Amino acid sequence: MDRKYFLAANWKMNGSLKANKELVLSIKEQFNKITSNNIELVICPPDIYLDQVKNLLDKDIEYIKLGAQNVSFEANGAFTGQTSVEMLKDFNISSIIIGHSERREFNNESDLDIAKKIYSVLHLDNNIKPILCVGESLTARESGETENIIKNQVIKVLDFLKEKSILENLEIMQRLVIAYEPIWAIGTGKVATAAQANEVNRFIRELIQKISLELSDKVRIIYGGSVKSNNALDLISQPDIDGFLVGGASLDATEFVKIYSHMCN
Ligand code: PEP
Repeated sequence: MDRKYFLAANWKMNGSLKANKELVLSIKEQFNKITSNNIELVICPPDIYLDQVKNLLDKDIEYIKLGAQNVSFEANGAFTGQTSVEMLKDFNISSIIIGHSERREFNNESDLDIAKKIYSVLHLDNNIKPILCVGESLTARESGETENIIKNQVIKVLDFLKEKSILENLEIMQRLVIAYEPIWAIGTGKVATAAQANEVNRFIRELIQKISLELSDKVRIIYGGSVKSNNALDLISQPDIDGFLVGGASLDATEFVKIYSHMCN
């Protein structure tokens, strides 16, 4: 397996000029001791702080990359409050979280909106990686609907990319990162067991396999949902978990760096 691990910090709507400075400087200081070449690391602050965090990262941006939490699928124009891929590119963005369950729920993002966003990132000539979030509710899990929900969310995106003729393009498609984030585990402290998480990640990989064996081997499929330093090692030991999307624990430098260090082992 030659997939590089992927670790993304989703700060959500948290932070301030003062708090960000403390957090980034503390992360940088602790990282300097344990940097690994086998982990792609991304910090996703709110857009308004991208410039501040970019400056704080300074030359360390080579190994602590900058990401965004959302993007518009429109290129430009009369879309008040929105941010385009090109705008994010101006800030050396390496990844963009797309289709987070909080955006699906609170901003009514549909599977089609999400597919368009993924396409808007992938089809442009850049190196930005879209992180597609998928996940089921507790009710869906309890009624045995997990695989159906996940399949539907993934296939809607893949079908759209097929329609746009980029699904067959391995070079483009391998930029895609998929995050399995069961809604019942996000911010609840209730983590999926390593076996539960790996089972769904493997199911997603099998869906990709139906398109291309080579692609399924290259696409990073990560897990998110109450990842902490005390469960990261167990989760990362699973064969189909290629990293994490971390919310709450990414706001604590020591905790976040510990998660990273478990991925180095
Ligand atoms: C997330 O926001 O994507 C997330 C997984 O949050 P938490 O780690 O707090 O559950």
